[in-house]
Amino acid sequence: MSETLGLYISVPFCRAKCTYCNFASGVFPASEHELYVMRVCGEIRRAWERAESAGWRLPERVGSVYLGGGTPSTLEPERLREIFVAIGESFVIERNAEVTVECAPGQIAADFLKAMVEVRATRVSLGVQSMVDTEAAATGRMHTRAIVEDDVRRLRDAGLAVNVDLIAGLPGQTLASWMESVEAVCGLGVEHASLYMLEVDEDSRLGRELIGGGARYGAGLVATDDTVAAMYESGCERLERAGVRQYEISNFARPGAEARHNLRYWRREPYLGVGLDAHSMLRGWNDGGDGGVVRFGNTDDLADYLNGEMEAEVERVDRAAELEEAWFLGLRLVEGVSLAALHAEFGGQAVAAFDDVVAELVDDGLLTRAGERVALMTRGRMLSNEVFGRFLGVASKDSSAAELSLSTQ
Ligand code: SF4
Repeated sequence: MSETLGLYISVPFCRAKCTYCNFASGVFPASEHELYVMRVCGEIRRAWERAESAGWRLPERVGSVYLGGGTPSTLEPERLREIFVAIGESFVIERNAEVTVECAPGQIAADFLKAMVEVRATRVSLGVQSMVDTEAAATGRMHTRAIVEDDVRRLRDAGLAVNVDLIAGLPGQTLASWMESVEAVCGLGVEHASLYMLEVDEDSRLGRELIGGGARYGAGLVATDDTVAAMYESGCERLERAGVRQYEISNFARPGAEARHNLRYWRREPYLGVGLDAHSMLRGWNDGGDGGVVRFGNTDDLADYLNGEMEAEVERVDRAAELEEAWFLGLRLVEGVSLAALHAEFGGQAVAAFDDVVAELVDDGLLTRAGERVALMTRGRMLSNEVFGRFLGVASKDSSAAELSLSTQ
């Protein structure tokens, strides 16, 4: 079967800014939605011209569409239709394409739900984060557990599969209250769940408070790393018992309900990101004929994007870096990395350069090697950044991988 494209559309608008949010999203007047969607549609319509002039291979058939952000459900239904008209004019959306729309609980108007069904959405991702009302309210979320339950019912009645996002480590959360959220999600019978651990960085108000101090956003009430690790582990076990199986570090699904769009990122299949701060990964067709990887991202400045200045720098990923990516993206999946597939793609010598790192991580109890597959152990999943860091720089230091890199330039 020929390769398909994943389309990511960023919609950076939200009703309120959550304290833990580190995305390029915000509260902007509805008057800006129209111009924004016009720019997005223009970007979709110009995708072919841009790819041709840059020498990138752009699959014509779209296998998955993901509207994220932000909160795409804040758009007027007409704007959603316009986006899909633009996609339909420029690409062929496969009949069985997965089409996901991120929505905020309590913010899915009846006419928006109708529009989602019209554009053939297949699943909705709900940013729930906590099913405990006080925890949700403390982070700026505007819903209650009852609202989430009602929305899940409405979405499933409309024929849409549902993903629920939860965050472990929110202010005031305890292991017991976390499990109350996980239990409630199991009770919803959803097809998919994502469990994230709170990210601490300068890009969110809560993150800045955790780093720099203060009491406004509840940084002092955030659980310790050990408690967050226990939350993650208990949550994984509970979902597994409910038949929602882990397939990636943060993602769980009933069999067959895995997020196909997200799988692209870890399997290094091509995707095109459109809109504010959207990122893309395509292969070039004029780089020595075998298609080197290019990554590029749009600006994260809304004013620039609305002015039509959308392009950011293009990064050409050489073969050595591509091999390292193949390791740490593949290891995110529970199925792990296939050594046979790596050998076929990069050659045995280049892959052998990683033998020592893999052996060390197996000894440390972070990786497991069974036959030709290498995968993270449960402890490795919790320390995944440390594991992935050990794969960085290995291929570029190795001379056979360096030759591999030169031969494709
Ligand atoms: S977490 Fe989601 S809903 Fe909250 S501000 Fe960020 S993008 Fe918007």
